[in-house]
Amino acid sequence: MAGRVTRLRHNITGAMLLGSAAAASTTWPIAAKIFPEQLEVDDNISYWAAQTPDYVPSAPLRKTIAADLVIIGGGFTGVSTAYHFSRRYPEKRVVLLEAKSLANGASGRNGGMMLNWINGVETDDTEILRRVYQATSSGIDLIEEIIQRHQLPVDYRRDGTVTIYTSAERAEKKHAEIERLNAAGIPGEFYDCQTLAAKLNMQGAYGAWFDPGTGQLNGAQLIRSLRPILVEQGVEIYEHTPVLKVREGSGITLVTPEAEIKASAIVLATNGYTGKLGYFREAIFPLHSHVFATEPLTPEQRAALGWHEMAGYSDDLDRISYSTMTRDGHLIFGGGSNQSYSYLFKNRTAYPGTPDSASHAFANMQETLRQYFPNSADLKIAYRWTGTLAITLRRNCSMGVRGQNRNVFYALGYSGHGVTLANLAGQVLTDIYSGDDQQWRQLPFYQAKFSPIPPEPFRWMGYQGFTRLTGRSPRA
Ligand SMILES: Cc1cc2nc3c(=O)[nH]c(=O)nc-3n(C[C@H](O)[C@H](O)[C@H](O)COP(=O)(O)OP(=O)(O)OC[C@H]3O[C@@H](n4cnc5c(N)ncnc54)[C@H](O)[C@@H]3O)c2cc1C
Repeated sequence: MAGRVTRLRHNITGAMLLGSAAAASTTWPIAAKIFPEQLEVDDNISYWAAQTPDYVPSAPLRKTIAADLVIIGGGFTGVSTAYHFSRRYPEKRVVLLEAKSLANGASGRNGGMMLNWINGVETDDTEILRRVYQATSSGIDLIEEIIQRHQLPVDYRRDGTVTIYTSAERAEKKHAEIERLNAAGIPGEFYDCQTLAAKLNMQGAYGAWFDPGTGQLNGAQLIRSLRPILVEQGVEIYEHTPVLKVREGSGITLVTPEAEIKASAIVLATNGYTGKLGYFREAIFPLHSHVFATEPLTPEQRAALGWHEMAGYSDDLDRISYSTMTRDGHLIFGGGSNQSYSYLFKNRTAYPGTPDSASHAFANMQETLRQYFPNSADLKIAYRWTGTLAITLRRNCSMGVRGQNRNVFYALGYSGHGVTLANLAGQVLTDIYSGDDQQWRQLPFYQAKFSPIPPEPFRWMGYQGFTRLTGRSPRA
C-alpha cells in the first residue's frame, strides 16, 4: 500500500513537472536572449585519461575545407560514427572536429561501466525487452570485436556486473522479473545475499541482478587508440577545433575559430554540450558528475574490502551510485547522493574549480562507499574528476536525423548510460544515412522524442528546488 502511495505521489509530481516544464518552455526565445550561454570545455584529469600519457592532440583546422560528412565531437558517438561511416563509404570525405582532444568529454571520464539495456525504457513487453537486450549486448560484442580486430591497447573486462537492490521488496520484484527475462531467452541471474556476498560483500544489499557479458572499459584508451585507425581509413581529425556556429541549408556551414567548413551533412556527437550549438536545448541539460579512483588495491585489500570478483555494480537508488574495479586494482566510484551531481546555472558545460573545491562532494561519496564497504574508509584516493553528461527528463536517448534538408544527424541524451549505446551509435547513424536502418526502427531510441525542459531561470530553480526537497533528480 505504502509503495502504491509513493508511486502515485511520484506520478503526480512527474505530471506536474511535465506540465510546468511545457508551459515554461514557451519562454525559450526570450530566455535565450537574457541568459546567453557559451561552450566551456575543461581538461580531462581522469584516471582513464592518465592511462594514455603519450597522447598528443592533432593540429587544429586552419583552412577552409569541404566535406561529405562532418562529425562534431570526439567521444564514443563521434569516433564510432567516423569508424563505421568511413568503412562503409571509403570514397567520401569525412572530417571530425573536436573542441579539445579526443575522449576529453564524458567518454573519457565516466565510471567505466559497459552495460546492457537503455536508460528510460520501462516496459513489460517481452519483445521490446528482447530487442533492447539484443542490440546492447551486440553493442558490447562490437566494442570487443573492434579492440581485437585492431589489437588496440585497451583495458577492459567482461566478467559481468550487478545491480544491487537496497530493499527486500525491490529485490523480490526483480527476482520475479529476471525469471520472466530468462523465460524470454534473456540471460541474467538473481543473486541472493549469500551468493552476492561471495562475490561482492556489500552491506545493505538484499539481492542483486547479475548481467553476464557486461563489464568495464577504459574509454580514453579505446578512443585515442582508434585515432590512427580512423586516419588510415581516410578520416581527417582536427582537435582543438570547437565548432562555434552551425548554419543549416542544403549545404551546411560550420564556423570554427580559424576556418569555415562546408558540409553536405553533419553529425551532432556532442551529447551534454549540444545545447551550445543551438540544438536540443529544450530537451537536454548538462549534469556534472564526480568520480574518484583509489590507489591500486593489493589482493589483501580487495579481500578485506569484500570485492572478490565482479567488474562492477550500480545500485537501485535515484541518485545512483556505481563502481568498477580495474584489472590492476583501482576502485572507481561515482554518484550516490545529491552532492555528487550538480546542475549549474545557464547549462555550464565545465565544472569550475579544482577537485578540492568539490571536496565536500568527494567526502560524501567516500561515505556512501563506506556504507556499502565498511573497510573502504582508509583507502587512498589517487584521482578525482568531474564529467559532463546529458540528461533528459525521461532519461531516454535518441538517434536520428533532423532539419529541413534531413542532413543533421544526431545521437545523444544517454543520461549516464552511454558507454555501450554511444559506441553503437556510429553503426545506427551510418545505417540511417544509408537508408538501410530497418533493424533500428523498432528500438526505443530511433528518432525518439524528448520531454521538454524549461529554459533559465526556471531550469536552475526547478532543479535546485526539486533535488533539495525530494533528494531525487527531476524526471517525468
Ligand atoms: C562522470 C560520468 C560517469 C559516467 N558513467 C557511465 C558508466 O559507468 N556507464 C555508462 O554506460 N555511461 C556512463 N556515463 C555516460 C557516458 O560516458 C556517456 O553517455 C558517453 O560517453 C557519451 O558519449 P558522447 O561521445 O556522446 O559524448 P562525449 O564523450 O561527452 O563527447 C562529446 C565531445 O564533443 C566535444 N564537443 C562538444 N561541443 C563541441 C563543439 N561545439 N565543437 C567541437 N567539439 C565539441 C566535447 O569536447 C567532447 O569531447 C558517464 C558519464 C559521466 C560524465
